[in-house]
Amino acid sequence: MLSKVILQANIDKVETYFDRADKIVIVTHVSPDGDALGSSLGLYHFLSVHEKTVNVIVPNAFPDFLRWMPGAKDIIRYDKYTEFANKLIAEADVICCLDFNALSRIDQMADAVREAPARKVMIDHHLNPEPFCRITISHPEISSTSELIFRLICRLGCFDDITMEGAECIYTGMMTDTGGFTYNSNNREIYFIIGELLSKGIDKDEIYRKVFNTYSEGRLRLMGYVLYEKMQVYPQFRSALICLSKNEQSKFQYVKGDTEGFVNMPLQMKGICFSVFLREDTDKNMIKVSLRSVGAFPCNKVAAEFFNGGGHLNASGGEFYGSMEDAIGLFKQALVKYESLLLKN
Ligand code: 5GP
Ligand code: MN
Repeated sequence: MLSKVILQANIDKVETYFDRADKIVIVTHVSPDGDALGSSLGLYHFLSVHEKTVNVIVPNAFPDFLRWMPGAKDIIRYDKYTEFANKLIAEADVICCLDFNALSRIDQMADAVREAPARKVMIDHHLNPEPFCRITISHPEISSTSELIFRLICRLGCFDDITMEGAECIYTGMMTDTGGFTYNSNNREIYFIIGELLSKGIDKDEIYRKVFNTYSEGRLRLMGYVLYEKMQVYPQFRSALICLSKNEQSKFQYVKGDTEGFVNMPLQMKGICFSVFLREDTDKNMIKVSLRSVGAFPCNKVAAEFFNGGGHLNASGGEFYGSMEDAIGLFKQALVKYESLLLKN
């Protein structure tokens, strides 16, 4: 049995919204990851069973290794089909905002969603949700939005309506947001839910392979290069840094997603509890910052204070507009400022 995480009042309101709605739009954050797509498609499959007109709209491209997900082909990219997407957003009865807590996280889509007359529902697990939805289902203690979607469907009394396709999507999101159940994954109810998803016929081992073992040769060679040449270790701060220029990325035929997970690698070293990855973005003129920590060290504080970002305690990100040298300088300032916390951790 699952404990009741989502407030009953919110379940009741969502039920009414869904009942009355005909056209439902699901939106998720920029550069959608496994949980963003898993939760969106999980909800999409469920609502499709209920014969709603459902559309999933994402701000921009998502990684190739998620393309196999059932329903992925029907996802509408806002950057490519802006006019069509604007029409769907403006005409929706309900807009579900999944896996993000602030309109700024959906980039160019923010205005359309803000101005849409639809009833809006946020379902998310990031801290500090902004008040732009009529219903805010925000649970930072839950490790993925996909898990929240599973919980929501069950609380609506509709477990039987979860199809194998829907279950695959939900499982993918739960798996990717916990690094294959290696962090944020001590809640025993996660494993109860996995059992329930397996009862729908999913092949969890195959999903793991499809998501984690489909990299290109370039990605693996880039990984080798990064570890051998680029990783800087600061043992006195129990920290590590990796920087990657555009030029270096093009030498390895970089495609979006190729550096996914690199930021986690330094944490495999004994004693390292904080890792930062700085990558010159290939689309925008900025440096994408990824931060990870283990234990109590709050990398989201560093993200917010130094890199215009935020996120979770152990996984956060930000954007830096400036040179790589300046970004490295900020990283070093952060180490000095947070030295005592880094050493205590
Ligand atoms: P990643 O390093 O995988 O890109 O992001 C890890 C987490 O950091 C995300 O799940 C998200 O919560 C947060 N995050 C990433 N980029 C940004 C950003 O630019 N701004 C904010 N506020 N959070 C971010
Ligand atoms: Mn998530």
